[in-house]
Amino acid sequence: MSIPQNPAPVNLVGLSREEIATLLREMGEKPFRAKQLWHWVYHRGETDFSAMTTLGTPLRTKLAETCVVARPHVVREQRSEDGTRKWLLRFPDGNEAETVYIPEDDRGALCVSSQVGCTLTCRFCHTGTQLLVRNLTAHEIVGQFMAARDAYGEWPSPTDESRQLSNIVLMGMGEPLYNYDNVAKAIGILLDNEGIAVSRRRITLSTSGVVPMIRRCGAELGVNLAVSLHAARDEIRDEIMPINRKYPLAELMAACREYPGASNARRITFEYVMLKGVNDSEADARALIKLVEGVPCKFNLIPFNPWPGSGFECPPIRHIERFANILFEAGYTAPIRMPRGRDILAACGQLRSDSLRERASLHKARLAAGEADDHAPAAAPLADASGAVA
Ligand code: SAH
Ligand code: SF4
Repeated sequence: MSIPQNPAPVNLVGLSREEIATLLREMGEKPFRAKQLWHWVYHRGETDFSAMTTLGTPLRTKLAETCVVARPHVVREQRSEDGTRKWLLRFPDGNEAETVYIPEDDRGALCVSSQVGCTLTCRFCHTGTQLLVRNLTAHEIVGQFMAARDAYGEWPSPTDESRQLSNIVLMGMGEPLYNYDNVAKAIGILLDNEGIAVSRRRITLSTSGVVPMIRRCGAELGVNLAVSLHAARDEIRDEIMPINRKYPLAELMAACREYPGASNARRITFEYVMLKGVNDSEADARALIKLVEGVPCKFNLIPFNPWPGSGFECPPIRHIERFANILFEAGYTAPIRMPRGRDILAACGQLRSDSLRERASLHKARLAAGEADDHAPAAAPLADASGAVA
């Protein structure tokens, strides 16, 4: 005879307003309770139901029996000398993703992951070696932000001016436009004025160029757009970013020109990873200027962050400066994004690979010692993980 199990508790982090309202309605509560619970979870950052004093004891007890307000588990936190902080977060199924805080002049941006791994195999990107394990849910995307906010003690939601975690960039692991529904739901939660309340102009979504979804992103989400360009000619982009074979530069540029709200005040950011001998010549800079004609834009020149086995190198800094000057003289903002957190493996995807490698060797050691295999990573592709980063 099977023993009936209690259903798993519902995590309120990542639920939309409507979902919270439905949950409470099903508990027999009045509609105004939804606003109160929303406030506790997303404005106050409260995780303990007994502290949610406006809710009344019976409801608090009921919630504590059936729900949790849970962040992803922080497996490892690293701090760089330059103020960059990086968290490796583990979700209940054992999968892991990275979130990085990048300090700017007075505050900073939180770089959030949208997938575990990535289906796109950009040659210079470490995440591209990891195969997609799965999309992150809205719970997990919002959870990354909330875990980082816990670390900065920024609860209740501070005013826009006084926040350390002022901006959010969807620029971590994964392609956000291939996980559109979860990303859109998470952005809706992050924007809500009575909760976390990050303003739309402080959220940037970075895409490798999923053209049809760029249109949808512009129409429905209206966040700032960053496009990982990395080459001004199809021959080169086809090689380093295979997605270009599906959506070539002309189509990508057309989608950028149409991006709603793109104006001089709200320009599209073109990210350009500088790869020695691949895309860093003066001719490349001039081709780039020609390519982006008519798009209100700025550039971010990113020195390639090396990783073992990539086969790419970062050009010398004076080379990058020369490239930046050509763009600058043509009237474009083109800052060189000095590498952040190199001492803590800041290249996209590196911390997770590091963790997978550790878990893979632990797993092998356990097998060799004849131990039961109950500590193996839940969904991590062990062979790929250990092979990808030889
Ligand atoms: N998939 C999305 C967002 C995540 S990648 C995209 O491609 O835009 C975030 C940025 O980091 C991209 O511009 C990517 O090209 C860049 N990047 C990846 N690997 C890098 C490396 N080794 N050095 C420097 N930048 C890198
Ligand atoms: Fe994926 Fe972006 Fe890396 Fe390309 S650069 S493999 S799209 S995460």
